[in-house]
Amino acid sequence: MPKLKHRKLRKEIIATCRAMNAAGVNQGTSGNVSARIDGGFLITPSGIPYDRMKPEQIVEMDLAGGYYGKFLPSSEWRMHYDIFRARSEAQAVVHTHAIYCTALSCQRVEIPAFHYMIGVAGGTTIRCSDYAAFGTQALSDTMLKALEDRSACLLANHGMICIGSSLKKALWLTIEVETLAKQFTHARQNGKPVILSDDEMKTVLARFKSYGKQAADLKPGEALAVEPPPRRDAPGGNKIKAKAMKSGKAAKAAKPQPLAVVVTDDAAAPEPAETTNKRPPRRSRSKPAAA
Ligand SMILES: [Zn+2]
Repeated sequence: MPKLKHRKLRKEIIATCRAMNAAGVNQGTSGNVSARIDGGFLITPSGIPYDRMKPEQIVEMDLAGGYYGKFLPSSEWRMHYDIFRARSEAQAVVHTHAIYCTALSCQRVEIPAFHYMIGVAGGTTIRCSDYAAFGTQALSDTMLKALEDRSACLLANHGMICIGSSLKKALWLTIEVETLAKQFTHARQNGKPVILSDDEMKTVLARFKSYGKQAADLKPGEALAVEPPPRRDAPGGNKIKAKAMKSGKAAKAAKPQPLAVVVTDDAAAPEPAETTNKRPPRRSRSKPAAA
């Protein structure tokens, strides 16, 4: 038997599946998870419970839509495949039927900027796609549209999907988006929530560029999301800050750098549509592919 490639990443995919069920953002095997590899991606197999899933059952697919091995990929492989082709920044994809996201998706409503955290998905809303049957190219097409300039969307009468720069980040975002869906549902029960204006959200989106980062993590040109308090033990910095405070110039001394503007990625054009939910062609390592 040849050595199993990507064993560590396969294990990480299984751990993500178990974590999303433990976190209450998915039920049973209805969700699916994938991670990018060179020339393709790894995806959860169809219909195998996460607690029994083994690394060798995780399916490898290429970016021409074929798969390797004896296990069929998730029936939703098309959405993962199209994301990895169209969104170069995506390193991982998590799709779940999270309760509150799914409930909102059945009303076909997008989540508006009722809370500033909506910015974690990259825009002023989390859109809801149109409806299309599961596993179809039509679903994948409408999903890509709803995901434009965003890293998460609702899928009409179905669930949610999100992308991340790692499996950990995609799972984190899944939990954040489900939390927002829950909060929005409760806020609507109390009447009509006040929606933040585009101007208010512009500030939030600029700040989200470095949200949750430590000073050491900042890239050139990036500023901290929120002005930090003065550091007391900074070498040579104490006296200057203390002096400035006394003379009432604290605000000037701690003047924040201008915040960077969020730049969204241009999605590449997706492949021509296929309309049926047929299986992807199985690839053979020894023979040329028949796709
Ligand atoms: Zn689904």
